[in-house]
Amino acid sequence: MIRVAIDGPSGAGKSTVAKQIAKDLSIIYVDTGAMYRSIGLYVLRKGLDTKDAAQVTDCLSNIDLQTRYDPANGQRIYLNGEDVSEAIRTPEASMAASNVSAIPAVRAFLLELQQTMAKKQSLVMDGRDIGTVVIPDAELKIFLTASPESRAHRRYLEYVQKGQSAEYEEILRDVIQRDHQDSTRVAAPLRQAEDAVLLDTTTINFEQTVTLIKQMILEKAKELGCSI
Ligand code: C5P
Repeated sequence: MIRVAIDGPSGAGKSTVAKQIAKDLSIIYVDTGAMYRSIGLYVLRKGLDTKDAAQVTDCLSNIDLQTRYDPANGQRIYLNGEDVSEAIRTPEASMAASNVSAIPAVRAFLLELQQTMAKKQSLVMDGRDIGTVVIPDAELKIFLTASPESRAHRRYLEYVQKGQSAEYEEILRDVIQRDHQDSTRVAAPLRQAEDAVLLDTTTINFEQTVTLIKQMILEKAKELGCSI
């Protein structure tokens, strides 16, 4: 069994890379950012303040999150039975996710769910605290990063490709603000685990990143004498 933890700031390419690796190796992919986004979306839709710990904590007992794999559309996330996989990919939902993720009760709620998923099966899980908190004994930990400008540029292209309106300067501001929020919060801040491999993708492309990580996984499996 190999559990791969991929952490890093927003826009470093974690989910695209993790998704491809999981597909190539036929293992499960868990996108923990989508879980925080779904909670953020729920709170936004209720018209509540995503930074208000009491209001957000009260919402948790009404939230049911399910992830399912759909062969045609890939990994999907369901918020109280509704497929919100697209609705969570907006700038508003991104900021709401960052806000709710600083609330300890939200982290505790999702930690349980994530740790249950990470028991007894090979997987790739990506987020901010996977190697440090969720799976501290992961067989392989990667910290994926890139310059704020290149991460903002990638996010910009993603929005444009989906036909959503986007402004580069605004996205860059958001990226920098989320980096700051995510790494300075008290509850499970974004940081590289001591035993994580640092991979900077500013100057390497998607295919190269996927190839490098797959090599690391195969080497680790060989070293541990286990199958994937
Ligand atoms: O990875 P993604 O951009 O989808 O994550 C959205 C937000 O959720 C992040 O900005 C971060 O604040 C939060 N998050 C987190 N811990 C994780 C995954 C995401 O705090 N493991």
